[in-house]
Amino acid sequence: MAISFDLSGKVALVTGANTGIGQGIALALAGAGADLVLVGHLPPEETISAAGKLGRKTWFIEADLLTIEPVEGIVQQALDAAGRIDILVNNAGIIRRADSTEFSERDWDEVMNINVKTVFFMCQRVGRHMIERGSGKIINIASMLSFQGGIRVPSYTASKSGVAGITRLLANEWAGKGININAIAPGYVATDNTAQLRADPERSQAILDRIPAGRWASPEDMGGAAVFLASPASDYVQGHVLAVDGGWLAR
Ligand code: NAP
Repeated sequence: MAISFDLSGKVALVTGANTGIGQGIALALAGAGADLVLVGHLPPEETISAAGKLGRKTWFIEADLLTIEPVEGIVQQALDAAGRIDILVNNAGIIRRADSTEFSERDWDEVMNINVKTVFFMCQRVGRHMIERGSGKIINIASMLSFQGGIRVPSYTASKSGVAGITRLLANEWAGKGININAIAPGYVATDNTAQLRADPERSQAILDRIPAGRWASPEDMGGAAVFLASPASDYVQGHVLAVDGGWLAR
């Protein structure tokens, strides 16, 4: 039996795809055949243009995911435009760094809101649509801090540990309804999210020294795992948090 990674005719909704991991994943899904509904602050011109060159259709929906207020509208607009959502990638996320003794309520709430609350309610709303159709693939973006404690990023660690938890919870509820829900836990990826770490030569070197692969990841490194988790090849994979980390967790 041939194993299929083909996403032709599928529609993938990806949040935060103007840059970084979201862009890398969106273009990998487009490369495998999926059309894209891209959700974020501003039209992701580069992603739209690259997907167009691959012959894919794209739609942009403007939304600020710091609250769940836009969730219903996003899904309605996506369904009106594209007719269906086969794949949901909850990628948009933020990080705030400060000593735990000084960490502010605002940095707690904003990170928790976008990284885990919005993620859950996007899963809920899109999940209802997928359950009605009896199929769908959801990929949440977790982190090394879904497994480890981290330093000076308390709300980020809480949110990404939460993402791993709700991914497992929803798999328990929805695996029997034709939905696959899993997460990708990227290792250290060279994006805006890690610019501060990479700007600190000592911290940057310490991180690099611990990565068996000997390099930071690029956003494109997340593409293969995303295509796998979005495709029929992963139909029996449920509630898994897949580390794509160059071996970081193996140390
Ligand atoms: P990034 O380049 O900063 O991308 C973050 C994306 O989220 C951007 O598209 C951003 O849009 C969007 N976003 C942020 N706040 C938003 C809001 N309020 N409403 C709508 N969109 C918003 O960082 P990244 O590293 O690619 O991060 C993507 C995901 O991977 C995040 O969930 C992050 O936690 C996770 N992750 C990253 C790493 C890493 O090493 N880089 C490791 C593990 C997990 P704008 O540019 O318009 O703000």
